[in-house]
Amino acid sequence: MQKRTLGKTGWEISVIGFGGIKLPLISQRECEILLNKAIDGGISFVDTADCYGDSEEKIGLALRGRRKEFYLSTKIDERDTIGVRKKLERCLRRLRTDWIDLVLFHDVRDFEYDRIFNSGGLETLQKAREEGKILEIGISIHHSIPMMMKAIESGVFSSLMIAYSAFDEDRLAADLLPMAHKIGIGLIAMKPLAGGMLTDRPSVPKRRRFIQGESLAHVSLHYVLSNLNITCAIPGMMELDELNENLKVGRQPRNLTIEEIKALMECVGEAGKGFCRNCGYCLPCPEGISIPDIFRFESYYDRYNLREWAREQYRSLEVHADACSGCEQCLELCPYGVSIPEKLKIAHRTLQ
Ligand code: SF4
Ligand code: SF4
Repeated sequence: MQKRTLGKTGWEISVIGFGGIKLPLISQRECEILLNKAIDGGISFVDTADCYGDSEEKIGLALRGRRKEFYLSTKIDERDTIGVRKKLERCLRRLRTDWIDLVLFHDVRDFEYDRIFNSGGLETLQKAREEGKILEIGISIHHSIPMMMKAIESGVFSSLMIAYSAFDEDRLAADLLPMAHKIGIGLIAMKPLAGGMLTDRPSVPKRRRFIQGESLAHVSLHYVLSNLNITCAIPGMMELDELNENLKVGRQPRNLTIEEIKALMECVGEAGKGFCRNCGYCLPCPEGISIPDIFRFESYYDRYNLREWAREQYRSLEVHADACSGCEQCLELCPYGVSIPEKLKIAHRTLQ
């Protein structure tokens, strides 16, 4: 199983982690078999949450005696002193452990982000860290990019858990992930199969061989892990087949070809099309237009309101978007279906 470093923690963890969200759906005996096979197969990161039914209890029981063989992560949905303290004690008890490696504030929404700081939640986890009950503090945020930025900039979280799959890449890959990675925040991809959308949609029967004999789930995981800013993906698992597939990916993650990405994007559907991922497949442009840079500046302008900065960067380019001759050579090469010439015109109007 390949490993990557989880940011500044320095932990070397398996690129595939075990997501414990589905464990309430199977028996304790099945959990024991599954989790022990996962650890035997090289998985060294197990994630759960206080609110995932009896997942913590099942993990605690199934992996008793093997605690030093994996990093354990759980999530707490309280934000204040009393709530966090109570839940943390319960997590430790249910997980049958003296310490938890990573505790994250779970699914934090915009309106409650400040409460972590103002209501004692953070302080409580920091105290628990001093006492050795936990080793690291993280935060899980599903979709709000501004809040992810805030969390990264706060400097208090060693890890950020985000919903990240082929569906989400457009929003995150271009700037937020490289930035977080660069400053040493460990990035963990939850929902790498888009909560099951990339395994068993009606149009894509479960485990159908998708590309070159690999399933859609398999290919989707390769896709997530081909982003080297991501340390680890944590698909939820409840069956041995799923585990075996995921182990295969973790042993040999690979970059997808343009054709494979195109096929994957067809599955993602219209919702996943049309956004520049800054992959650079469309280059070189015969006119010398730096297509991905221009779309990146445009995204800074739109998403983060960094208007002056984006315009300055655009002005500093030698060739601007209005040099596009409309030859359409780039269209064939873009696996994401970006209408490049058309969108360049819009970007030029925005940034000039
Ligand atoms: S190939 Fe498409 S997605 Fe990739 S950089 Fe070019 S326009 Fe963006
Ligand atoms: S259509 Fe425009 S951007 Fe695309 S390759 Fe031709 S000149 Fe370059």
